[in-house]
Amino acid sequence: MNSITFANNPIDRASEFRSNVEWQQQAVTSEKSLFMIFFEDRPLIKINSERPNEPEILWVSHQQLALVLTNNITPLFLGLKDERPHFAVDLSNLNLEQILSNPSFAHSKFIDARSIAPSLDNPSTGIIAQAKSNFEWNKNNIYCSKCEGVKLSTKDTGYKKFCKQCGAEYFPRVDPVVIMLPCFEDKCLLGRQKGFPPGMFSALAGFVEPGETIEAAVIREVNEEVGLNSRDVVYKFTQPWPFPSQLMIACTAIVDDPTYKVDDEEIEEAIWLNKEDLTKILIGKSEKKIWIPPPMAIAHQLIVDWMDNN
Ligand SMILES: [Zn+2]
Repeated sequence: MNSITFANNPIDRASEFRSNVEWQQQAVTSEKSLFMIFFEDRPLIKINSERPNEPEILWVSHQQLALVLTNNITPLFLGLKDERPHFAVDLSNLNLEQILSNPSFAHSKFIDARSIAPSLDNPSTGIIAQAKSNFEWNKNNIYCSKCEGVKLSTKDTGYKKFCKQCGAEYFPRVDPVVIMLPCFEDKCLLGRQKGFPPGMFSALAGFVEPGETIEAAVIREVNEEVGLNSRDVVYKFTQPWPFPSQLMIACTAIVDDPTYKVDDEEIEEAIWLNKEDLTKILIGKSEKKIWIPPPMAIAHQLIVDWMDNN
């Protein structure tokens, strides 16, 4: 297991059961099943008053959930864990006060996934990523894009939609993003996007375009953003980023000539840093008052991984 937030989902997705309507119906009402709850993209988090620094996902039984569950809510089948079916339900269409009046939800709060993730254990963040991205996809894909005004039907508990009129099928999408460190001798390059908070530098990043390999996307983005020619792209690791549904692909690439020229549109400043510079940055002792994104960001993990290997 790695330390990447949103990347360690412990649930066996057991996708063979998604389309089995009978199995799903039984599982939803089974005493063994567990449900997590979302409201407007926020998971319901249990805050134990004795251990307020250890929040956790609130899991409830069907019986505990039944008070608020209505017929038009389809629980999303997350998969199996410890032989128990795990589901997520999106209660955004219900009244918030009514939901929270359920005694089973006492000491629990709907909290934005980005702000609660650093306080949760890593496996929980992986489960939240799976459910959150799926709910957002379902919420944003209501109509068939070929048949005007025709509503899509949900299949496989929410992993698929189809149009009864033309038969088109729709699947949840994932948007790949490359995030990379150009490397020259004992240094790596970080950049500052215009919108970053003062002093923050990070790895370069950009969306993979249709028909493009990851390697080509890295080389293109490095060239576009800082004018460097890079080669020998090495894939390191990935991170699901459920805002709403990116897959961050962390890479390094070698540069032969370190003379960069920032593209003013995207990047306002770039800097070559060695391991010593980065060590100072990590302990908050950077003379230039530079800082990098927190451990939750894959850019942080990529920089630390580069430091460990150089
Ligand atoms: Zn259609």
